[in-house]
Amino acid sequence: MAMSRKVVLTQRPDGEPAESDFALVDAETKPLEDGEVLLKVEHLSIDAFIRTMLDDRDGHHGKVDLEAPVMALGVGRVIDSRSSELQQGDAVFGPMGAQTHVVWPAAMLRKLDESNVPARTYLGALGMTTGLTAYAGMICVAQVKAEETVVVSAAAGAVGSMACQIAKIAGAKVIGIAGGAEKCDFLRKEIGCHDAVDYKSGNLVENLRESCPEGINVFFDNVGGDVLDAALDNIAKCARVIICGAISQYNDMTKVTGPSLYLRIPERNASMLGFTVDHYAEQFPTMEADIADWIQRGELSLPEQIEDGIENFPGALIKLMTGGHKGKLLIGL
Ligand code: NAP
Repeated sequence: MAMSRKVVLTQRPDGEPAESDFALVDAETKPLEDGEVLLKVEHLSIDAFIRTMLDDRDGHHGKVDLEAPVMALGVGRVIDSRSSELQQGDAVFGPMGAQTHVVWPAAMLRKLDESNVPARTYLGALGMTTGLTAYAGMICVAQVKAEETVVVSAAAGAVGSMACQIAKIAGAKVIGIAGGAEKCDFLRKEIGCHDAVDYKSGNLVENLRESCPEGINVFFDNVGGDVLDAALDNIAKCARVIICGAISQYNDMTKVTGPSLYLRIPERNASMLGFTVDHYAEQFPTMEADIADWIQRGELSLPEQIEDGIENFPGALIKLMTGGHKGKLLIGL
């Protein structure tokens, strides 16, 4: 057994989450049963879907119970095992939860190959909720083509940074939308976007028109709301608008605001397509192989921002929702 420090939900957030919605508790892990392993969690993925699980509603991802550890995907290391599948020292991926140690059945975990990349890469560039999501949206759903103009919202975040780079590898002209001049610089210099547009400054509709004079062929949307409307006003004929997420809506899912300019879709013979990454599970091995290949060839890299300590989990989630990070946001333990 081990002592585990956990972040539990003490009250449901009213709008933006606050530190006071969470508490730290210490508890011993349960004794191991046959087929189970004891894990020391090493990194936790801070993901937008976590916010949607804090409400008192059974949404797409389910809900976190009060006084229970907050849900988070993570990677960890086996420190004790009663499973023939996993040995001490193995690195694994799974639904770790916001805690330092956890006991899980080995069958719920994926053993990771650390020979080419560190285990935490399976939360970022090779992560289901990050790299594989960007791949599914950009390649499988948008079917991006060379020479097309692609716009990505929340482009300086985890999924966005990957989506921009995947579109660029496909030969597209890529424009990222992000909040603030520093993030736009990051998109141009580190992510390799052809241009970047700051949605917090000036008129987004006009600024997108300037960056995309021929119109947008693919809009990969992570944000929804006004940003989606500004992009819709700039779509080209036969554009594909890909709904990956709508983070601007997650703090109040009882009043989700849809786009007011959706008539641009029929006017421009365009389509709006949504997806969730789990529908593409059969293609995960191909996606992982392609992304690993791009990393090895130096064509793609995902900057990481790692905040150390389980006590920083609530702050990191608040940071994700308010844009205080670039690239992939992780908790290191
Ligand atoms: P992220 O992009 O790393 O972080 C979220 C970013 O959203 C922030 O950095 C912030 O950037 C931006 N943002 C927050 N509120 C905003 C607002 N009101 N208006 C405009 N921008 C806002 O997070 P992520 O985990 O990679 O998730 C990105 C999106 O992917 C989310 O919508 C998530 O739900 C979606 N997702 C979808 C799937 C799927 O299967 N479809 C899977 C995983 C994730 P700025 O500083 O630029 O504002």
